[in-house]
Amino acid sequence: MAVSLDTGSVASTVDGARRGFHERFGSEPAGVWAAPGRVNVIGEHTDYNDGFVLPMAIDRACYAAAAPRQDRTLRVYAAQLDETVEISLDALVGPGSAGDSRDAADPAMAPLAEPAVRGWAGYPVGVAWILQQAGFPVGGADVYLTSTVPVGSGLSSSAALECATALALAGVSGFELTTAELARHTQRAENIYAGVPCGPLDQMSSAFGQDGSVLYIDTRSGEVRPQPFDLAAENALLLIIDTRVSHAHGENGYADRRSACERAAEFLGVAALRDVSVAELPESFAKVSVGLGETFARRLRHVVTEDARVEQFVEILNQEPLSLPRLGHRMMQSHASLRDDYEVSAPELDLAVATAVAAGAHGARMTGGGFGGSAIALVDRDLLDDVRAAVVAAFAEHGYTEPQFFPAVASAGAHRIP
Ligand code: ADP
Ligand code: MG
Repeated sequence: MAVSLDTGSVASTVDGARRGFHERFGSEPAGVWAAPGRVNVIGEHTDYNDGFVLPMAIDRACYAAAAPRQDRTLRVYAAQLDETVEISLDALVGPGSAGDSRDAADPAMAPLAEPAVRGWAGYPVGVAWILQQAGFPVGGADVYLTSTVPVGSGLSSSAALECATALALAGVSGFELTTAELARHTQRAENIYAGVPCGPLDQMSSAFGQDGSVLYIDTRSGEVRPQPFDLAAENALLLIIDTRVSHAHGENGYADRRSACERAAEFLGVAALRDVSVAELPESFAKVSVGLGETFARRLRHVVTEDARVEQFVEILNQEPLSLPRLGHRMMQSHASLRDDYEVSAPELDLAVATAVAAGAHGARMTGGGFGGSAIALVDRDLLDDVRAAVVAAFAEHGYTEPQFFPAVASAGAHRIP
């Protein structure tokens, strides 16, 4: 099955980016920079509540081949779309720049009313914009982007694109970005310029990824603790099931959940829902039910219990011997909470999860923001074919598009290709 890794693919993609750059721009790139997509193993919709997440960077990435230009033009070509955006860096000012009263420390900010470009180009141009805003000496550049991260599958193709672009711009302009700066500025570019109110999860995963580890992240402090996650030693793997249902139609749902959390936190008088403990939950649930309504209370319950599940998952990871059934159980609880309390799942995700577990997976859950995208299943290697066949059959029976499968391989974060 297609689950074995094609180890030649990174080299051929990098080579493709170099050749593509040459064909497009007629010269050699100064370098190639890569930034991975991610799967979130557990801890969903907690990142904008100052909570805990446990993602890993995967071996699918966006590659940016780039070279400096002598003028102040930024030209970016997106290979998957066969589209180019060209803009003067000097024109990349305006609302939100001079005299901006925004708090630069606030990671989630209102979108610009009139960004110079919209659509896909808003991601790379937004990165150039935010880096200039932050005072980095961004110079003119030609950038060729090509990506192996499926778009809109909940694996964070957007953060991969942003982080690859940011590193490429830094590389050809001759300035350095720390990993934390990379994550923070790319998130702000997505929030403000592209207008997507995402939390820090995606960009931190792409920036901080480590080979063989999941990242235990406290999104309030920004602390990242890599935890070894060696499923091969357990003869198991984390299988990504891409339902091929784009999550794009859920954009309003995401913003709605985010604002519901903010209202609940305000109502409870806490800075963020992270500040509500499991012990306080029954009382807080009752209060929010009466004051804001039961739907808000269920949103609250998801966030509080999900934060606790991340901590439990990490505890289990650190116990010997590693118990895959216990990890799987937490994944199932997470999925049920996202489906029933947070209401961000989709029929295809529920079917993938239920079928994978019925076929022998230790556990499964939707991953990413939901409303489509991907599920992940914790599977013993000898059951891989059974799980995949069962999911394919179930999707066919329901008349759903055939899903795609690939393993989640914990990989390095954004870096320059040597
Ligand atoms: P995801 O979960 O994949 O990050 P998003 O909706 O956040 O989904 O981001 C997807 C958007 O990011 C696309 O619609 C497109 O605008 C942009 N994007 C992602 N990858 C690419 C790419 N390879 N080329 C051009 N644009 C891309
Ligand atoms: Mg995204």
